[in-house]
Amino acid sequence: MAFISSAGVSTPDAAHDEFAGREQLRASSAEFRKDVIEVTDGVFVAVGYSASNVTLIQGEGGSIIVDTAANPVDAAAIIEAFGDRMVRPVRAIVYTHNHPDHSGGASVFAGNDSPEIHSHQILVDSAAEFGRGQRDGGDAFGTTLPDELFINAGTQLEYGRVTPHTREGFLPPNRTFNGEEETIEIAGVGMQFIHTPGESAENIAVWIPRKGVLLPGDDFYKSYPNLSPLRGLRLRSPEKWIASLEKMIPLNAQYLVQGHMRPILGEDSVRQALTLYRDGIKSVLDQTFAGIKRGMRPDELVQEVKLSPELAQSPYLQEYYGSVAWTVRGIYADYVGWFDGNATNIFPLPPVERARKMLDLAGGADEMLARAREAIEAREFQWAAELADHVLVVDTDNLDAKGLKAKALTELGERQVNATARNYYLTSAQFLLKG
Ligand SMILES: [Zn+2]
Repeated sequence: MAFISSAGVSTPDAAHDEFAGREQLRASSAEFRKDVIEVTDGVFVAVGYSASNVTLIQGEGGSIIVDTAANPVDAAAIIEAFGDRMVRPVRAIVYTHNHPDHSGGASVFAGNDSPEIHSHQILVDSAAEFGRGQRDGGDAFGTTLPDELFINAGTQLEYGRVTPHTREGFLPPNRTFNGEEETIEIAGVGMQFIHTPGESAENIAVWIPRKGVLLPGDDFYKSYPNLSPLRGLRLRSPEKWIASLEKMIPLNAQYLVQGHMRPILGEDSVRQALTLYRDGIKSVLDQTFAGIKRGMRPDELVQEVKLSPELAQSPYLQEYYGSVAWTVRGIYADYVGWFDGNATNIFPLPPVERARKMLDLAGGADEMLARAREAIEAREFQWAAELADHVLVVDTDNLDAKGLKAKALTELGERQVNATARNYYLTSAQFLLKG
């Protein structure tokens, strides 16, 4: 793959190519630089002050705040950055969705103003994310990585690293709606809340027709969407996400102010961004369904399903946060189930039994680790990690195996364009080295 620099110059240098993904990820951090951006008359968005954006809408006799940052500390910094543009009282707070980075600073924005607090009813009703126990020490957000290893978290710079998303400033909604949409006027600003499930089931888009401003919550950000996250969640329905984008495209918004990164300005740009996003998700879904119907297994599908060259070039579909391959696996598991169709895998050997037999085949743990060392020298880092795992399954404290696996994971992480994969690889490596 040729590395395309920010100046658009292709360089054939092989060593450079190897880390092109990492450097692209590093360059994407410019999206999160601190700024208060005037989107249009009376609409301002604070980018880079917290894990997610906060939008200020100036109304008659007060302000409207859409999303509230990750915690009270960030919220206070954003209020300071808004300065006299944020006129009290805050008349209303709107949560686009329930994620802690969007809902943790509400009490600071509310102050003593007793604002209306709006969301979809699903936000109130939904259970907390199930998640996964962290037995392998991985963290997709890089929360515990040292600064020199951390680049960003895909859609934000320092998710939970500097000011954790404590949720201590969350205020429960006092005005919710059910169903598809609600039309409302707050402080003289006419708005429509549109239920648009995607990144989360309760996500709403906020549409301000007279200003041409659309806030899609987390249904759009400048990365391939995180349909099937590493951090241990169900598949986020690609079909619902597509339908939500199809509700937003015909609005012909002039300004798209999403929950992360810098807004998109101009009607053509907004339409193109939302359409590419819709097409990207649809392409992966359609290809995966077609492959499943041909009898392909998940491990085969991830080799086959790709974005078209046109979609793959889009700045909105780079895999900084979500991944095409994980989407494919998530769709398979959701629509077809856990079983890949290979009878060998109906009742597989227990991991320890398989590992013992593999070590016997290799001539023992030392031989297996010698092969892992060779694999690292041959830059076959995935294979090296797999070989080390055979030893670690049998002997969880084997220091040589831990060191080799940590080396392999570090090399894999340093070649990733995907921030959550990078963070998970590097955090797992640190965990192995610490003990
Ligand atoms: Zn978010």
